[in-house]
Amino acid sequence: MSLPRSTVQSLLASQELDRDVLVKGWVRSRRGNKYVQFIIVNDGSTLHTIQAVANAELFPEESLKDVANGAAVAIWGRLVASQGKGQAVEIQAAEITVLGKADPETYPLQKKATSLEFLREIAHLRPRTNTFGAVLRIRHALAFAVHQYFNDHGFFYVHTPIITGSDAEGAGQMFRVTTLPPEHPPRTAAGAVDYSQDFFGKQTNLTVSGQLEGELAAMALGSIYTFGPTFRAENSNTARHLAEFWMIEPEVAFNELEENMDLAEDFLRYLVRYALERCADDLQFLNDQYDKDLLGRLRSVVENDFQRLTYTEAVEILKSAKQKFEFPVDWGTDLQSEHERYLVEKHFEKPVILTNYPKEIKAFYMKLDDDGRTVRAMDVLFPGIGEIIGGSQREEDYAKLTARMAEMHVPADELDWYLDTRRFGTAPHAGFGLGFERLVLFVTGMGNIRDVIPFPRYPKNAAF
Ligand code: ATP
Ligand code: MN
Repeated sequence: MSLPRSTVQSLLASQELDRDVLVKGWVRSRRGNKYVQFIIVNDGSTLHTIQAVANAELFPEESLKDVANGAAVAIWGRLVASQGKGQAVEIQAAEITVLGKADPETYPLQKKATSLEFLREIAHLRPRTNTFGAVLRIRHALAFAVHQYFNDHGFFYVHTPIITGSDAEGAGQMFRVTTLPPEHPPRTAAGAVDYSQDFFGKQTNLTVSGQLEGELAAMALGSIYTFGPTFRAENSNTARHLAEFWMIEPEVAFNELEENMDLAEDFLRYLVRYALERCADDLQFLNDQYDKDLLGRLRSVVENDFQRLTYTEAVEILKSAKQKFEFPVDWGTDLQSEHERYLVEKHFEKPVILTNYPKEIKAFYMKLDDDGRTVRAMDVLFPGIGEIIGGSQREEDYAKLTARMAEMHVPADELDWYLDTRRFGTAPHAGFGLGFERLVLFVTGMGNIRDVIPFPRYPKNAAF
């Protein structure tokens, strides 16, 4: 029989019954009696499974012994209306081939309840669970929606380097990239490691942000975005930080802070709405399984405007809050996650955009406000997450920018290429960074960022 393979998803949606079909997938369970066996198959195309019915005349029990939980199978048969409850269609099996056995004694994903912590230890197999299947399909849909949104709005996708020659991006600790032998690297006369003999002839690192290169592209193409891997060697063992994550960074020439906020808000709403429309089954499953408020929370983001206020106003609110915070708040201090979440979850009960932070706690490239104390920064804060976006209007004035760099000890000679945008045809521009995993975390309602990326990297873990 040379039938093409049908996905479970297409079969479940099919109106065309009483025809021969071929399905391939992994057995989720097999049960039944001596007359008939029911084989439940999932192929990843959907959360749902299809049931194949194997009658004992064709399939004596012995012939099905390898059709066990986790085995890969190919099943030929007739797609028919189901006689049983719980599914609309099923396959009346005519032929079953086991493509790959899975020993029930050692297959780690047996029915017994599996915790998310345990699944993290077998991250290579967890995509076969309902939970991770759902998360990965949602992750895909969101990635696709990112490109869709920007393409529809006239943005160009720019690929910024992953290996960077500057260590002045200003966004955190970097991972070094080198091919020098660790045991006996070449040394200068003074005894320091001689990086002029390294692969690139200088020190190089993995990027912590594509923003600076993104700015160059925006000052040529107008509206651009990056979407790529980002690396931070900060030792933050939290449920919201990864050492390797994906970041989306739009940058728009001629945009100022207000337009930057409008873009961030419209973009986030679009992404959440996209997931609600395209991933309804997977979201319903996660809602029922883990978090009964998930769908409500997603809808409220789509339906409500974000609250916009300045950092200074936020600090006033936090200082007069009844709640006890672990970290004290005062004007000039960086806000902790507990403060961000208080504003979003308790005070305003909706997403918040905080603007105009003190210049001391923000990066050198942010545009100085007229008061000389604050910069045109904007952080978007989300329920359950805290900061999901960090962005700003950029300082376009060469003199002010270089003055800030000197104050903050950012080496101007290393960023000479960046300063050229301010030397030649400078203009107002603005952009932001959205952590893709923070977005997926929000949309899926999962509690830990390690559970929304296939192979998480965090301190002391680079397994698989
Ligand atoms: P945080 O204060 O939460 O550590 P940040 O201020 O260092 O974040 P930015 O440099 O502004 O983050 O990066 C832009 C966005 O990238 C953040 O708003 C967040 O969504 C995401 N992000 C930053 N660091 C991480 C990380 N270690 N893991 C996952 N996402 C991250
Ligand atoms: Mn930030």
